[in-house]
Amino acid sequence: MNKKNNIFFQQYENCVICEHNCQVNRKFEEGFCRTSDKFFISSVMTHVGEEKIINPTLAIFISGCNARCNFCYNSETAFNSTKGVEVSPKMLAKQIDFELAKNPKIETVSFLGGDPIPHLPKVIKTVSLVETKTKFVLNSNFYFTEKVLLEILDYFQVFLVDFKFGNDSCADKIAQLPNYTEILKRNLKILQKHNQFDKILIRHLLMPNHFDCCFVSVVDWLSENLPSVKFSLLDQFVGKEKLSKSEIEKAWKYLENKNSGSLKII
Ligand code: SF4
Repeated sequence: MNKKNNIFFQQYENCVICEHNCQVNRKFEEGFCRTSDKFFISSVMTHVGEEKIINPTLAIFISGCNARCNFCYNSETAFNSTKGVEVSPKMLAKQIDFELAKNPKIETVSFLGGDPIPHLPKVIKTVSLVETKTKFVLNSNFYFTEKVLLEILDYFQVFLVDFKFGNDSCADKIAQLPNYTEILKRNLKILQKHNQFDKILIRHLLMPNHFDCCFVSVVDWLSENLPSVKFSLLDQFVGKEKLSKSEIEKAWKYLENKNSGSLKII
């Protein structure tokens, strides 16, 4: 690990990795994410149901999250940062090498959660220790600082950006992420400015009763600001409320119209 990474590693002692900006020493104190400096993995498995460009992927589920989505599918591990097995980056890198050797058909290695953000320093250390040639995917809500984004640019071949909300009110109410849209849009612009555009894959989960406020706002902003970006719509929302058939059809119809030269739907 080089000197630059070592500085990044010190983030655990005064954590400002994400925009919650807690400034806590995670060895002794809890920030918003309630994730200490200990690195827990809840599971490692091969996924074939992801987008074609990352399939099949070796999915590394990291416990802990910096968001509090009230519909979270993985709340058991996202909101319990000590769920699973504690690992060091060296141990995890060895396991990744082992899994890749066992199954050469695996195309990518994805870090997800919860969200990998609270443990980004350990994730990039893991990436730097993996010996097998592969592609690394950061599957995240991207609610981190500009400084952190610039630190991690070179470590990933795919930035899978979970663009969840189209406005700050929904983001704050549903996931407790203040100033979400400004931060996310800023980070996407930074990726573009640093010639990372081809690495971006945007995901949006269609939510019941959030058609105009979230889905349309996200799609329209992307069409105007990141034309031709790769975009994936998830329409299998699972929660107390259900997506209606008409909402799903309306969303795909909307995308079909937008698809003529503005977004690359995958
Ligand atoms: S990663 Fe956790 S402790 Fe660090 S700033 Fe974000 S919420 Fe706070």
